[in-house]
Amino acid sequence: MNYDVSIIGAGPGGVFCAYELLKKDPSIKVGVFEEGYPLDKRKCPIDGIKVKSCAGCRVCSIMKGFGGAGAFSDGKYNITNDFGGTLYEYIGRDKAIGLMKYVDDINVAHGGGGTRMFSTSGTPLKKTCMQNKLTLLEAQVRHLGTDVNYVVLGRIYEELKDKVDFYFETRVDTIKDTSEGFDIVCGKGTFHSRKCVISVGRSGSKWMEGICGDLGIKTMSNRVDIGVRVELPAEIFSHITDELYEGKIVYRTEKFEDRVRTFCMNPNGIVVNENTNGIITVNGHSFEDSEMKTENTNFALLVSKHFSEPFKDSNGYGESIARLSNMLGGGVIVQRFGDLERGRRSRKKRIEEGTVRPTLAATPGDLSLVLPKRILDGIIEMIYALDKIAPGTANDDTLLYGVEVKFYNMEVELDDTLQSRHKGLYIIGDGSGVTHSLSHASASGVFVAREIAGA
Ligand SMILES: Cc1cc2nc3c(=O)[nH]c(=O)nc-3n(C[C@H](O)[C@H](O)[C@H](O)COP(=O)(O)OP(=O)(O)OC[C@H]3O[C@@H](n4cnc5c(N)ncnc54)[C@H](O)[C@@H]3O)c2cc1C
Repeated sequence: MNYDVSIIGAGPGGVFCAYELLKKDPSIKVGVFEEGYPLDKRKCPIDGIKVKSCAGCRVCSIMKGFGGAGAFSDGKYNITNDFGGTLYEYIGRDKAIGLMKYVDDINVAHGGGGTRMFSTSGTPLKKTCMQNKLTLLEAQVRHLGTDVNYVVLGRIYEELKDKVDFYFETRVDTIKDTSEGFDIVCGKGTFHSRKCVISVGRSGSKWMEGICGDLGIKTMSNRVDIGVRVELPAEIFSHITDELYEGKIVYRTEKFEDRVRTFCMNPNGIVVNENTNGIITVNGHSFEDSEMKTENTNFALLVSKHFSEPFKDSNGYGESIARLSNMLGGGVIVQRFGDLERGRRSRKKRIEEGTVRPTLAATPGDLSLVLPKRILDGIIEMIYALDKIAPGTANDDTLLYGVEVKFYNMEVELDDTLQSRHKGLYIIGDGSGVTHSLSHASASGVFVAREIAGA
């Protein structure tokens, strides 16, 4: 055997799994296989000057490499069972929260100590939301910020690098179940390990589908969230973001009773492109460093689409909509809310004349040509609902970037130890469909490490 445990993917799930394995048993032999680069070599070529949009790199440095999709994220670690995944359904609510708090302690000990923990407990905003047909979800959130998150990951890597064998730029091709363990087949050869933890995240979703097919592991897929990223002057949401950093607010539309929610709120942040399997969508983040802050706040408004039999390809549906925006805009489209309401496309001049200065160079266009009517109607309704608790949200100059798609990995059939039907093969993090966030993915890594170490 080369390893006691091999881990595929060095995102938060894989990294925290390796960290906890070594903590529980310093003699354990762990190999981590990662398609992307080490942290210090991860560099997205978009600089806003020479390269303004996605260059379609062979290995996307935003999504792949040490730290996974979380490396350049906003570093918001939410401690909650209300959103971010369904880990609690497997391991219980208290245990899930306990593990998320443990992950927070590790982050704090590795450079996150100076950052703030926000909480919804006791906030008057909850009542204001209720009075306006909105629901504020409960959570504690530590905002590391993209910069501090990077420092924390760097320190964790320094601690692990001499104890774990990291194989970067190493895409695992396939996994074989042998009677004694697992063969990890990649460009650098075939490695044998007693146990295997798969943590390939969202960027590994297609690969995961193939592996599940090969190994006869059942999967289910029926959800995708589609919407836009809203950008407006930071003052409009400051009473919410100063207190909570991020308000996770849900609205049920009057017309269709669809659920629309705010997602990934970035006070004084920037809007960014995201490349998922070659499709350009929109996302956002912000920095802890005051010099990197902008005058705008951004957040997504997403509508959940659940499909029932016989349709199975919910991600394919989301991809088709994103492709449509890529086809019309060459990437992400931006539109003023006032233009959307008047049924006309935005043009460069109208955006330049507006009061909101866009933080992403996107193509001015018409989102109504891209988003299905039902989804667009839900988003417009929610903008007016938010306008009641944050007046100014429905201003003409508010910018909407589209499309934002939150793809959900198909859910993989796992037992309550996150083990597949192959004994010794664990599937964690976003790649399992169980988690959709930094804190849940990390917690799932710690959980499985403890299962393996027998603690
Ligand atoms: C721009 C952005 C901002 C975000 N902001 C936040 C936030 O503020 N808060 C939050 O909770 N969540 C945020 N998220 C989501 C969060 O990053 C993910 O939920 C989290 O990273 C999931 O962790 P993971 O370990 O499961 O997978 P990932 O982080 O996706 O890591 C998976 C790793 O596996 C590797 N891999 C895939 N396939 C293979 C293969 N075949 N062989 C070898 N390696 C492979 C990939 O290269 C990748 O590095 C954000 C995501 C993005 C893209």
